[in-house]
Amino acid sequence: MRWDRSNPLSWSIPDRCYAIALLMIASTVILGASCLAGGWPFLAYPAERYPLLLPAQGIALACWSALAVGARLRRGREGSGRGLAIATTALYAITLAAFTLVTGPFASPGWISYLGGAVVGYVMFPRWVVLAGMILYVVLVAAGALSHSTALAPAELYEGLDGPMVLRRCVASLALFALTFSVIAWIADRWRDREARYQKLASIDSLTGLVNRRRFFKQATQELARARRYGSPVAIVLVDLDHFKRINDEHGHPVGDQALAHAAGVLAREVRDLDIVARYGGEEFAMLLPMTTATGAKEVAERCTQKLAATPLAIDGRAPIRITASMGLTCAEQSSTDTLEALLTAADAALYRAKEGGRNRVEVAPAPPQAMLPS
Ligand code: GH3
Ligand code: MG
Ligand code: MG
Repeated sequence: MRWDRSNPLSWSIPDRCYAIALLMIASTVILGASCLAGGWPFLAYPAERYPLLLPAQGIALACWSALAVGARLRRGREGSGRGLAIATTALYAITLAAFTLVTGPFASPGWISYLGGAVVGYVMFPRWVVLAGMILYVVLVAAGALSHSTALAPAELYEGLDGPMVLRRCVASLALFALTFSVIAWIADRWRDREARYQKLASIDSLTGLVNRRRFFKQATQELARARRYGSPVAIVLVDLDHFKRINDEHGHPVGDQALAHAAGVLAREVRDLDIVARYGGEEFAMLLPMTTATGAKEVAERCTQKLAATPLAIDGRAPIRITASMGLTCAEQSSTDTLEALLTAADAALYRAKEGGRNRVEVAPAPPQAMLPS
């Protein structure tokens, strides 16, 4: 978990926007301080010839601070954070365009930051948002160069910049930029693919194709938090295949493996898309059914048990192998304060009773006494 938090790629969009806002605040403060000390870098002429430099930095500081506060407030809320990503990208394009017009519309500091910003944006935000920000920057720089915006910089900096010249320089800058960016984007994509592959390997059980125990705990914790927030019920079913040792002993371990994959497939097909079916242990599975009461979950579990018993594993040249399972289930009703561990313990106790009661059956954990329910 600690590692997760230190990796910007696992941050939410509001957290990414917040980090970028802090970076921009820090850069503006550094530039503002050097401006006050008379040594702003990247300037072609003495600082006195840029009367709007300090006020412009004040405005940038105010805007980025407002964005930082907005990102912080947006932090815990649901939603994609797309609006915040757009605001961050647009504000970056505007700030950088102003910086570029101050240092010279085609001077390298602005364009290098453009490339850097685009690469960071490409990794952090949806692509179309970044593309729109990139176009906005070029339009603003071209418009500033054409209007000879002497408000930001001495007129000499814009000498000879007529329409055709601005167009040529924009095209040349963009061509150079596109070349470098394409290479970086290509590498970043390969990187992302590899990470997605590793993430899949880390969360999927290779034998059954179901999510593994670790992933189940993560998803179940999230589902439980969501259920608690919206006051909806959520059910947990623990499944243990019956006399599985016998299948291994009689048919061999490879057939046992096939039987496990077969049982996993039957369970996964019997539940809804939103339900989670996981390989919980050796021949044990766990199912989490959101928005499902104990009665509903019992129906699902009964259906799974019957379907499994009625779908033997067919292997060429052998008699079909009948596989059955016992299940124990429990349900966190509205506003339950049960932890995931408590629910799993209750489901496990019910599973034990299903085994004791003769296997190939479903048992439901008793509901907590009324006195224990939170008011
Ligand atoms: P019951 O649960 O009905 O009480 O009997 P059981 O025979 O299923 O009980 P137990 O939990 O003692 O045995 C589980 C067996 O599952 C033992 C183990 O060899 C087998 N098993 C666990 N994981 C795998 C696996 O990945 N592949 C195969 N082939 N067998 C597995
Ligand atoms: Mg077992
Ligand atoms: Mg078993």
